[in-house]
Amino acid sequence: MAGLKVAVIGGGSTGSAIVHDLASRGIDVTLIERGLIGGGTSGKFHGLLHSGARYAMNDPKAAEESIIDNKVISEIAPHCVEDTGGVFVALKGDDQSFADKFYTSCRNAGIPVESMPVETLIQEEPFINKDVSVAFSVPDKVINSFRFITSLLLTAKSEGAKIMLGREVVDFEREGKDVTGVKIKDNLTGKISTLKFDLIVNASGAWAGRLLREHLNIDSIKMVLSAGTMAVVSRRFARRVLNRLRLPSDGDIIVPYFNESIIGTTSFIVDDPDNFDIDRDDIDFLLNEGAKLVPAVKSYGISRYYAGVRPLIAADEGSSGDSRSISRDFRIFDHEKTDDTPGIMTIVGGKLSTARLMGKQISDFVCSKLGIKEQSKTDKIKLLWPDLSKENLSELSKSLSIPEQFLREIAFEINSTTYEDIYSPVEDLIVSRKLFI
Ligand SMILES: Cc1cc2nc3c(=O)[nH]c(=O)nc-3n(C[C@H](O)[C@H](O)[C@H](O)COP(=O)(O)OP(=O)(O)OC[C@H]3O[C@@H](n4cnc5c(N)ncnc54)[C@H](O)[C@@H]3O)c2cc1C
Repeated sequence: MAGLKVAVIGGGSTGSAIVHDLASRGIDVTLIERGLIGGGTSGKFHGLLHSGARYAMNDPKAAEESIIDNKVISEIAPHCVEDTGGVFVALKGDDQSFADKFYTSCRNAGIPVESMPVETLIQEEPFINKDVSVAFSVPDKVINSFRFITSLLLTAKSEGAKIMLGREVVDFEREGKDVTGVKIKDNLTGKISTLKFDLIVNASGAWAGRLLREHLNIDSIKMVLSAGTMAVVSRRFARRVLNRLRLPSDGDIIVPYFNESIIGTTSFIVDDPDNFDIDRDDIDFLLNEGAKLVPAVKSYGISRYYAGVRPLIAADEGSSGDSRSISRDFRIFDHEKTDDTPGIMTIVGGKLSTARLMGKQISDFVCSKLGIKEQSKTDKIKLLWPDLSKENLSELSKSLSIPEQFLREIAFEINSTTYEDIYSPVEDLIVSRKLFI
């Protein structure tokens, strides 16, 4: 393995988990991210560490993967997770026939599901609609993506990874058919430079297809860019994640995200993940649907809204129809096999909740390609997070070559306050880069 260099493009949850997995196996790996921590979909998601129950009825593989990482991430990154629990409820007038199928599907996927007496639920969740007729509890949790990705990157750095923020891959280097490196643009200075690698992993999420198409003429990955809007109410109404008991659909879930409630979501196809509009009617729709679960949301109204883009894989060529029916499972493409282009592979799909598993599986593939025998240990490695109460802050600062002041700033990031609330995007990039370079 000596001397072999791997690049990972994209510092969302997927790329960050891959870099951690490869670095922990002793591989020389560099992460290249064009913007900030969580600047892609991973910073604009719904906040759920899925139990898998949401997918149990129509997407069993995604459900099974979710419950595995739900347990593992809670163990390795407890500082990122709130163990809220979740509940699936049918309301009077809903199709009650889902109850048995839901219960059996969860059990089959290995998800601990329990029938919950409606009176107990109403007692414990006083804001919930009193028209609940059936309720099931599941181990849904809430995860802070900024903390999770930052923890993955701090851990990867401690394992020897190089983390390059604000660097955009603008082209690839080729030797014959082989992809042998990347051309990157420094988005702060505009400087262009070239880096050589033995293997490149494209984990650029919703941008993955475009990157391959525009710079390598690879058109084999048919992606569906399914955007989703989330509407935030500045008040927490429930201990648990509240879900409607039906197949995944628009406006069927409220996530208690620290002190707020996030109602989601919608699903609409976009062409360009950097440039799309949020329909104001969708916000009214989400408020109305949210009120069916928690009537009180109506009297508070929506304080802000945002949208992210799911990088999904079309079920078959040309498929672009109902994006709700596309699997949330992930896929790995070896472009040597699919496009006669050695030196690069792509991972797309999945969820933030399955990032660690995705990181492990593509790293297994990278290792088998490079002839490396080291096994993944990421299900056991506790992720780093600066602990202000301990004297080891200065030790951590020295071992990571990150000034104590920045580690303190990371550790102070609480609730919905993130770097972006503290700094302008440019200052944020300057500060974030000091963390890693
Ligand atoms: C509306 C919505 C709600 C969701 N809710 C949940 C949820 O509750 N729970 C859950 O588990 N999952 C959820 N998901 C799914 C989850 O958010 C995504 O699957 C996950 O965040 C994707 O991570 P990623 O790293 O693959 O992509 P991203 O986070 O988008 O990362 C890709 C990165 O690549 C970078 N990049 C792009 N081009 C280049 C380039 N040329 N050079 C360098 N860098 C580049 C981008 O800047 C970006 O940071 C949701 C998704 C959506 C859209």
